[in-house]
Amino acid sequence: MIVVEDVHKHFGGFHAVDGASLTIREGSITGLIGPNGAGKTTLFNVIAGVLQPTSGRVTMNGEDITGLPPHTLFHKGLLRTFQIAHEFSSMTVRENLMMVPGGQAGETLWNAWFRRGRIAEEERALAEKANEVLDFLTISHLADEKAGNLSGGQKKLLELGRTMMVDARIVFLDEVGAGVNRTLLNTIGDAILRLNRERNYTFVVIEHDMDFIARLCEPVICMAEGKVLAEGTLDEIKANEHVIEAYLGT
Ligand code: ADP
Repeated sequence: MIVVEDVHKHFGGFHAVDGASLTIREGSITGLIGPNGAGKTTLFNVIAGVLQPTSGRVTMNGEDITGLPPHTLFHKGLLRTFQIAHEFSSMTVRENLMMVPGGQAGETLWNAWFRRGRIAEEERALAEKANEVLDFLTISHLADEKAGNLSGGQKKLLELGRTMMVDARIVFLDEVGAGVNRTLLNTIGDAILRLNRERNYTFVVIEHDMDFIARLCEPVICMAEGKVLAEGTLDEIKANEHVIEAYLGT
């Protein structure tokens, strides 16, 4: 689904991504692991259009998407989750979900005045969708809670929920497990598995929690020093001497 070919990303003289090539299979939950500073987040940001690569190519289903901006990729169904921005923390969980799909009527005075019926209809459809998402993620009880009051794990579920408000096809998740308790991490894992199986989402997940990776991810890709070191099942990766060396060397 996604093919990354010889991508480089330099910051000044520093090669954060140094000739990375990999393939993301449609329907997979691919894990991206590697020591700190390996270039995982930078590569994510290049694929998701947040950063321009210095060189190299990224294609999605054969189409060159190298350097396309995030909103263009968003319309193609490629999403990278982001932490809930500060300015949205005083909005409720439901409001955070409902504001995701851009471009609905109601954004201009013209629309507000002349097409009130249509706006109401769209609002209703959005509200219905938000309810469905809340239900799917088992967070209906948090619908009217301000996003800023959520725990770290609940915020991650909301981030995932935001991808469900549009028709995402491939979602990039950065460190889902950081600072999240085990119970909530399992809930997040369940949601990812269900989205993968029932809604045909493809996922690429950067994660340090090996239990989480073991439960969800195949294949696992290991990066170090800006390059892809190995790809395989987690057991194969753990047994790979280059991988062991990379982790021990840090
Ligand atoms: P990982 O996600 O694997 O921990 P990163 O992609 O975050 O690795 O970082 C790879 C390297 O690139 C790190 O050494 C980091 O300091 C550096 N780096 C990341 N972003 C920038 C930037 N905007 N400017 C300069 N160096 C950066």
